[in-house]
Amino acid sequence: MSRIALTCTACAAEVTVSSRHLMVRVDVGHSESGELLYTCLFCAATVVQQVDAASVAALVSAGVSYLALSEPIVGHPECPPCGPVFTHDDVLDLHTRLARTGWFDEMLTRLT
Ligand SMILES: [Zn+2]
Repeated sequence: MSRIALTCTACAAEVTVSSRHLMVRVDVGHSESGELLYTCLFCAATVVQQVDAASVAALVSAGVSYLALSEPIVGHPECPPCGPVFTHDDVLDLHTRLARTGWFDEMLTRLT
């Protein structure tokens, strides 16, 4: 377990924090930098410091926990199905088919 000396951005105190009390957070796809998170031992503030890619690599190799976050994938609320768009012509075709007698038997033969 490594101990890392840091300067708190909230109270400016020099703190030494063990690697297991630190966390590095990076965004997937933006690997040029990351954030170092820890709780200051003097002011108890949760401190977030921007760190560059080299610092991220050094911290992770020193045993600091690593958290990679990606942007959330927001799906369409109605989950539209794949395939061609259902058009007005499709509605007219359906109406024509349903107006004929025996449409149900015709549908069954198409499915089997
Ligand atoms: Zn502090």
